[in-house]
Amino acid sequence: MIPYGRQSISDDDVAAVERVLRSDWITQGPAITQFERGMAEYTGARHGLAVANATAGLHLACLALGVGKGDLVWTSPNTFLASANCALYCGADVDFVDIDPGTYNLCVDKLEAKLRAAQAAGRLPKVLIPVHFAGQSCDMRAIHALARQYGFRIIEDASHAVGADYADGKVGNCRYSDITVFSFHPVKILTTGEGGMLLSNDDALHRQLGLLRSHGMVRDPADLEDQGQGAWYYEQHTLGYNYRITDIQAALGLSQLGRLDAFVARRRAIAARYTTLLADLPVTTPFQAAYGESAWHLYPVWIQPGTDGDIAARRKAVFASLREQGIGVNVHYIPVPTQPYYRKLGFAPGQFPAAERYYAGAISLPMYFSLSDAEQEQVVDALRRALA
Ligand SMILES: *Cc1c(COP(=O)(O)O)cnc(C)c1O
Repeated sequence: MIPYGRQSISDDDVAAVERVLRSDWITQGPAITQFERGMAEYTGARHGLAVANATAGLHLACLALGVGKGDLVWTSPNTFLASANCALYCGADVDFVDIDPGTYNLCVDKLEAKLRAAQAAGRLPKVLIPVHFAGQSCDMRAIHALARQYGFRIIEDASHAVGADYADGKVGNCRYSDITVFSFHPVKILTTGEGGMLLSNDDALHRQLGLLRSHGMVRDPADLEDQGQGAWYYEQHTLGYNYRITDIQAALGLSQLGRLDAFVARRRAIAARYTTLLADLPVTTPFQAAYGESAWHLYPVWIQPGTDGDIAARRKAVFASLREQGIGVNVHYIPVPTQPYYRKLGFAPGQFPAAERYYAGAISLPMYFSLSDAEQEQVVDALRRALA
C-alpha cells in the first residue's frame, strides 16, 4: 500500500533524539528553546512556543486572545475538527465562513459579506481562524485588512503550511495575524511525533501563551508577587494546563527543521509532476496562488462529476477502486458543521454549499517526501483506471 502521507526520519534525526535520551533532561531541557528559536528564525516571527500538539496550541491561542463564554469564533468548514473545537473548549460559539470553490480556503468575499451582516446584527466575531488548506496560504493581507476594519483578531491554523511562502515572507511570520499555529503530527510536513508550535510577534502575548502552557505557573523571581521566599517557590497566576512538548520531541523537531527546505522542495516537485501527469484526466487539480507558494501538505484532486451529475457516487467508486489498487488515498475534509456533534449545536447540511460540494468530490493523493517517481506513476495509473 502506498500511504497518502508518511514521515521521513533520517539517521541524523534518530541520533538527535538519542543524544537527548542519554542527556540529563528529557522533558524541559535546552532542545525546546533551540527548536523554538530555530522555528522563529526560519519563519521570521519574533517568538516561537512549542506545545504538545496543534490542538493544544489552538486552545492556548484562543485563551490568550481572551476568547471566553459568549464570544464568537469563525473558521473554515473545510478543516480538521480541531480548528473549530478550540473555540468550544473556551466556552465560545463557533460559526463558519464558506470556502472559495477555486481555492478551497475560506472565501474573503463571503467573509466580508458575513462581517457586514454580523455588524448589523451586533455580533461580530472576536477571533477568525483562517486555515491554509493543503499548505496554500489564505490571502492574509485581505483578511488582515478586514480584521482592522471590523476589530477581530487572527489565529492562522497553518498546520498544513509549515515551510510555505506567502507574499514577502514565510507563513508563520505573523505579519498579518496575531498567532500562527503549526502541527508536527507525522502526516504533516515536519514531525515531532505529536507536537505543535505557536508563533507570535507580541511579547506580552507570547508570555501569556507560555504561562497557559504550564499550569499558569511562574518561577522567575522577577515575576513573583511574594519576593521573600526561597529557591523552591513558585506561584500560580492564572488557570493553565500541561500542554508542554518534551525535549525528546523538540530534538527531533530541530533536526527535522534542518531538512524542512528539502521536504518542501520535494513536495513542490511532486505536486508539479502530478499536475502535469493528471492534465488529461477528468479531475480538477489543486489551486496554486500567484501570491505565495504552497508547502503541499496534501495534493487534493476533485473528481469531476459524471454525466449523471452525482459527484458523491463517483468519488466513492473512484476512492474504492484506488484503495483496491493499493493506493492509500484519503479525503480532506468532511465539512465540520455537518458532523453529528455540530448538528446538535444547530448546524445543518446545506449551510456551507461550497465546502460540501468540494468535499463530495475530494480525494487526497499520496504526497510525502519519500514518494518515488515510480510510485507516483503507479498512483496516476491507478487513478486513470479508476476513472475509466
Ligand atoms: C492536523 C491538524 C490539526 C491538529 O493538529 P494536531 O497536532 O494533531 O493536534 C489542526 N488543524 C488542522 C487544519 C490540521 O490539519
